[in-house]
Amino acid sequence: MIIVLRPDASASDTEQIRSYLNSKGAELKCIDGEYRCVLGVVGCTDGIDAGYIEGLSFVESVTRISEPYRLSGRLGHPADSVIDICGRKIGGGNFEIIAGPCSVESEDQICSAAEVVKACGAGLLRGGAFKPRTSPYEFQGLGTKGLELLKKAKRLTGLPTVTEIMLPEQLPLFEDVDVIQVGARNMQNFELLKELGKAKKPILLKRGWSNTIKELLTSAEYIIGAGNSDIILCERGIRTFEPYTRNTLDLSAVPVIHELSHLPVIVDPSHATGHSGYVGAMALAAVAAGADGLMIEVHPEPCRALCDAAQAITPAQFSEIVTKVNAVRKAIGK
Ligand code: PEP
Ligand code: MN
Repeated sequence: MIIVLRPDASASDTEQIRSYLNSKGAELKCIDGEYRCVLGVVGCTDGIDAGYIEGLSFVESVTRISEPYRLSGRLGHPADSVIDICGRKIGGGNFEIIAGPCSVESEDQICSAAEVVKACGAGLLRGGAFKPRTSPYEFQGLGTKGLELLKKAKRLTGLPTVTEIMLPEQLPLFEDVDVIQVGARNMQNFELLKELGKAKKPILLKRGWSNTIKELLTSAEYIIGAGNSDIILCERGIRTFEPYTRNTLDLSAVPVIHELSHLPVIVDPSHATGHSGYVGAMALAAVAAGADGLMIEVHPEPCRALCDAAQAITPAQFSEIVTKVNAVRKAIGK
């Protein structure tokens, strides 16, 4: 942290800052310029309230040097993290496709979706049991019954499961789930994130549509700080002024996150575009951009989907996308 003092700051002003920083366990190094004094803060700056320092009348500016995501950042952890889900690996050159319906609707639907996505090459099965719907009149998911059906589909196919949690109190229900998803709407539900730090299984953390990459990483920081470093980040599109797609897929988030963080990042082209016709192109673009995986909504009969029907693709479309994904991976030397 660098603090620049106003030209009229006195020696006792510097001492006031020094004693505040010392009380927080940090040290001060002063550089006296011709007109101004610049203070460098060294040591752990975690407990320092930059706003308090900035508010002092004799302070001109405060600049943080280290990013507020020490645990999810690459600086202290240069190697890529590899997340192992029942032997399927994501990150550090390992790639997986998570596929399945938006929501679990019936035993037939989830089991046939599981069988078909597995046959096409998906490594994990998705399906929402607790659905965070924008309108209270829309299908809200089957709840615990949905979790039971996911378990059946896993027993049938061997595919590990990914499903969304909405409340910290639901964690005990997720005992048999393999990856717990935090949806875009809950990316900054900090009490939920802290609870998931206690979970002994990987977390799929989706980016909120109005959240920056830095905020995504600081949300991951909550989970790691609470004890769980098995996190997969997911770019699922952000809200812009463009109405032709449901969201705007921020593909540049993939290389940016790879530079800033050791955590793997996958892309969800389904929620990013909201239209089945655009899912394939964005899936391939995500792979070319270096994504560590994909999450794609596939429904045995998209026109009957109770949730997100417009973006659901058919098994045949999924099969074609997987073939092309493999070709793109080969083309980029993966
Ligand atoms: C989902 O993956 O089912 C979902 C609701 O996505 P998001 O949280 O990205 O909207
Ligand atoms: Mn959906």
